[in-house]
Amino acid sequence: MLAYTYVKKGCFRLEHKPVPQILSPRDALVKVTLAGICTSDLHIKRGAVPRAVPGITVGHEMVGVVESAGSAVKNVRAGDRVCVNVETFCGDCWFCRQGYVNNCTDKNGGWALGCRIDGGQAEYVRVPFADTGLTKIPDGVTDTAALLVGDVLATGYWAVKIAEAQPGDTFVIIGGGPVGLCAAACARLKSPARIIICESRPERREFAKKFMPDALCVAPEELACLTSSLPRGGADRVLECGGTAESFAMAWRCARPNAVVVVAALYEQAITLPLPDMYGKNLTFKTGGVDGCDCAAILELIHCGRIDVSPLITHTFPLSEIAEGYRLFEGGKGGVYKVAIRP
Ligand SMILES: [Zn+2]
Ligand SMILES: [Zn+2]
Repeated sequence: MLAYTYVKKGCFRLEHKPVPQILSPRDALVKVTLAGICTSDLHIKRGAVPRAVPGITVGHEMVGVVESAGSAVKNVRAGDRVCVNVETFCGDCWFCRQGYVNNCTDKNGGWALGCRIDGGQAEYVRVPFADTGLTKIPDGVTDTAALLVGDVLATGYWAVKIAEAQPGDTFVIIGGGPVGLCAAACARLKSPARIIICESRPERREFAKKFMPDALCVAPEELACLTSSLPRGGADRVLECGGTAESFAMAWRCARPNAVVVVAALYEQAITLPLPDMYGKNLTFKTGGVDGCDCAAILELIHCGRIDVSPLITHTFPLSEIAEGYRLFEGGKGGVYKVAIRP
């Protein structure tokens, strides 16, 4: 089969590999029908993910059809359409039982697919712990509608979930990229007074306005003035999805005293927490990464029409042309948000 492979720092290549085999009774083999390219894939390519193993098949965001399932798998069987979770988790350890599945203590726990074990930018993928790693896609939900459920939409959903929102809150979302807009789509479920999306690139602000006409889309230089005029002097919930030192500084500065700031972004460098400047704001920070254990709930919200992030998938390429898809995604031009790959 064809599999897009992390060869070495700076080099991904489409290679021929054998179809993966079931290795444990809890595994399932999934025939991939649609896979996404994620910013985390670019982090691997740049060598910024030290635990990524050269030679692995990349890709951790995909949907497909179960080809076969191990003897201990209960929740899915051959022929089921499924969404694959970015995270591998056993479901049994202390962290899993609390819902902190990102910290599952299994050796493959957390983000393993497409990083430490073979992922899904390929024709087939082996999914360990298939009962927790796969979620059946309801009839009537397309592959495109379900593609982001396992990773970026799970991240947006989780960020909103841990933000402790109350009805009538003001959300500020820093960064209008795929994660930011997924977070915005989930924030809307919490009956907020307003959602403000802060994005530096004008074309992304335009896209965000079309994606969510009821949100306020502002440039970074407009944010402070807007949030300081809010009834409580700042945002109640801030979701930092930008991933730069500047976006982090904006996130805590625009928060009202006693707000919750969720840091969902993945940074490529250390970030300073200027505690003297923050003194008296009494902020609560919550940091990433996603606990991806709500895929069934998210799919149900898509099924009943309360979330639709499919407009974020702006381009689709066949697997044979995946390198072109990466070029487009990395360049970030031409209105590209998410690139889907069809094996
Ligand atoms: Zn990802
Ligand atoms: Zn576990």
